[in-house]
Amino acid sequence: MKQIIIAIDGFSSTGKSTVAKQLAKHLGYIYVDSGAMYRAVTWFAMQNHFIKSDCFHIQDLISSLYQITISFKFNEALGFAEVYLNGKNIERQIRTLEVSSFVSQVAEISEVREMLVKQQQKMGESRGIVMDGRDIGTVVFPDAELKLFMTASAETRAVRRYEELISRSEDVSFSDVLKNVQERDYIDSHREDSPLIKAEDAIEIDNSCLSLEEQFNKILQLVENKLKECN
Ligand code: C5P
Repeated sequence: MKQIIIAIDGFSSTGKSTVAKQLAKHLGYIYVDSGAMYRAVTWFAMQNHFIKSDCFHIQDLISSLYQITISFKFNEALGFAEVYLNGKNIERQIRTLEVSSFVSQVAEISEVREMLVKQQQKMGESRGIVMDGRDIGTVVFPDAELKLFMTASAETRAVRRYEELISRSEDVSFSDVLKNVQERDYIDSHREDSPLIKAEDAIEIDNSCLSLEEQFNKILQLVENKLKECN
């Protein structure tokens, strides 16, 4: 059976990765969280003191990009691939609110995008992949067979992100999480290079009022229809 590319884009915390992981598992496809790659570069910049609370040494980061190797390794126990920076597992470190507060500024840098997009395209060369992010259907895989664009209200999304951070024992306030979600949405959709926009041929899914099961079943139906069409 011919395998396809499923591109899932949308605003922060719209549940893209949850449904992407479910689909990849169901179909036996690779799942790639492209946001984790931008977070890994951000973590690298923070570790090297290119990012401090009051300044961001963009040129230093750009000239150090060649030192960055990002990889994913499947964790059987968790059921998804964790992200590694230069061989070190940084899955936990990249999920903090601190990394979230800088990542959209890093993702605005064209040199960073160019490096990561090349790597993402390579991962999808043999198709059979579900990738989520902000520019997957528009820039990374404009020829993806199925493109989804996920939306939900900012408040709904902030509640989800807040609960996720609290469950990981992060000391955060709901208002800071909501502010971060809104700021990232703004930067991601207004940047010059590869802004977050819905691809013309993407199907929009508003999941504000859908349970995880309802969402999965709705999307799986779309996938099955597409697979029938392609085979
Ligand atoms: O998906 P996640 O929220 O982890 O992504 C973190 C950030 O990485 C986004 O807010 C966005 O700034 C950036 N990103 C991007 N393009 C992608 C994936 C993520 O610009 N394909």
